[in-house]
Amino acid sequence: MNGPIEELVEQLTRLPGIGRKSAWRIALHILDTPEDEVAKLSRALDDAKRRIVKCRRCFTYSESELCSICSSATRDNSTICVVEKSSDVFAIEKIGRYRGTYHVLGGVLSPLAGITPDRVRLGELTQRVADEHPAELIIGLGGGAEAETTAAYIARLYRNAGVRITRLARGLPAGMEIEYVDQLTLGQALNERTDIHYGES
Ligand SMILES: [Zn+2]
Repeated sequence: MNGPIEELVEQLTRLPGIGRKSAWRIALHILDTPEDEVAKLSRALDDAKRRIVKCRRCFTYSESELCSICSSATRDNSTICVVEKSSDVFAIEKIGRYRGTYHVLGGVLSPLAGITPDRVRLGELTQRVADEHPAELIIGLGGGAEAETTAAYIARLYRNAGVRITRLARGLPAGMEIEYVDQLTLGQALNERTDIHYGES
């Protein structure tokens, strides 16, 4: 069995972007940190996990059942931007220009990896399209092949739903995830979005 330091390192290496070397550095830093500071970190982790839920409408992380975007009176409810994950919502919100709502899919389609349409929140999106009759769905996915597959699938899925389907302008770095695209490029991609039609790949 692992000792407490090894266990801490082990848990840290499970975090995205943290290799073994970084995990050791963080673990040793934590050991050098006064106990009350470490308690704050541990409380923050605990609080975030306990108090943050997923918005029941758009599935982004939220402190209440409906997130601040979905419950805002000033957002444009006729536009839904479909993104892969909550961090994409934060990235697009940071630009400060988008006034519509979001829908967090929770993944992109990847038949090879077994990510089929039933594994992401497409059923929930279909329900929203039926209930809310949005005028436009913006496919706000990154530049990879899986994002393309997902965009094409969505365009086909709603081809008769009476909703305009657009995607972020091309020119996003290939394969790059939305959250890592700089604000200027992302803002432009949003402004210059283009229509997608069923059949386009
Ligand atoms: Zn929401």
